[in-house]
Amino acid sequence: MKRKFLLEEKDIPENWYNIIADMPNKPLPPLHPATKEPIGPDALAPLFPMELIKQEVTTDKYVPIPDEVRNIYSIWRPTPLYRAHNLEKVLDTPAKIYYKYEGTSPTGSHKPNTAVPQAYYNKMEGVKKITTETGAGQWGSALSFACQHFGIDCEVFMVKLSFDHKPYRKVMMNTWGAKVHPSPSAATEIGKKILAEHPDTTGSLGIAISEAIESAVHNDTTKYALGSVLNHVKLHQTIVGQEAIKQMEMAGDMPDVVIAPFGGGSNFAGLSFPFLRLNFDEGKSIRCIASEPASCPKLTKGVFRYDFGDTAGMTPLLPMYTLGHDFVPAPIHAGGLRYHGAGVIVSQLLKDKLIEAVAHDNLEVFEAGVTFARAEGIIPAPEATHGIATVIAEAERCKREGKAETILFNLCGHGNFDMKAYQDYFDGKIVKHELSDAEIQASIAKLDTPTI
Ligand SMILES: *Cc1c(COP(=O)(O)O)cnc(C)c1O
Repeated sequence: MKRKFLLEEKDIPENWYNIIADMPNKPLPPLHPATKEPIGPDALAPLFPMELIKQEVTTDKYVPIPDEVRNIYSIWRPTPLYRAHNLEKVLDTPAKIYYKYEGTSPTGSHKPNTAVPQAYYNKMEGVKKITTETGAGQWGSALSFACQHFGIDCEVFMVKLSFDHKPYRKVMMNTWGAKVHPSPSAATEIGKKILAEHPDTTGSLGIAISEAIESAVHNDTTKYALGSVLNHVKLHQTIVGQEAIKQMEMAGDMPDVVIAPFGGGSNFAGLSFPFLRLNFDEGKSIRCIASEPASCPKLTKGVFRYDFGDTAGMTPLLPMYTLGHDFVPAPIHAGGLRYHGAGVIVSQLLKDKLIEAVAHDNLEVFEAGVTFARAEGIIPAPEATHGIATVIAEAERCKREGKAETILFNLCGHGNFDMKAYQDYFDGKIVKHELSDAEIQASIAKLDTPTI
């Protein structure tokens, strides 16, 4: 009964896979926030180093991974892939369940897979400081770790809800030398404005992004970094799925269903895009399912139209599934999934029905997380429990239908810094929350961005 499928350092992929090359309908262009005309890559130059902008728009199918990046990856990569024998038994399912575990990175999630190359390309172009936002603290930690490695200063705007709930994430970032503000903060104009209007706000990723961008644009040697949503972030994460394909081959198996939790789409892209490549190149029909919170259901209940990536409307307009950039999600514990929009590539893939999406409420996902922890030992990040809820639903379907399908999911992070969330669950303090259709319609009705 083999449980673990391990690769060696030499098996770390040499290229990232760019799914844009294979998409039947390419993503629509970003639009200028004021003129609403399509913008070229140059418009992003104040925010990102040129190499990352090139990666944002390239149509090359493969992008080589620099040796120095592979070298840092080798601190924790390749990550293990497990067969969840115990979970299968608990669920009494004929399905075979596998998971790729990204919690073995120094920061405990998949985020360093992109933080390291982002810091690397900034370093190559002489950047001295990077600003960013963080929801649950995972991205801020990852960027702090990566910046520290390359001797770049790092400034993080952390959504206030998480700042208050997860003090040790802040200490972790401080350990790697980063400066951390609760967002909204008094360090930016937009932060001050929002604090004046809503002094008790718990913040949102949209607000934190606006603050980080505002702090970056005023200085030539300061740039901004985003931990999800953008094409280059998804590109970097594809090492996860490429490794997983090799490991599934070692296991003598191939997934029928690939599942990952969904915030902005990076861990979902990381695991699923290389499997979608098998659908494109080899005619396979692997189902890829994104799992989102019912409190922030942009894929299952949002609209596909142009919207801003941030609350203040400073980013380019992107064609995506969105709940509206003004939307402030309920303070649920899966902080990393509280984002109003979905990445452009994933949005187009969903529009074209090449992937699927489902939503779970917050009680259902904690139940799933605890079931997983009791069966497999690892305590999942609250974000990751959404994927587990989908795994359980699919395993139950397999049982009903008597099908021995193979399910693979991305356990994209551990929950060791999330004990407050688990404590609240055990204390019965987590109340079921679903965004109502009326609330969604009200938020979307406020949009005056171009429709598609
Ligand atoms: C950030 C994060 C997410 C959500 O972001 P994606 O870009 O959708 O992956 C999910 N899980 C964990 C553990 C995270 O840190």
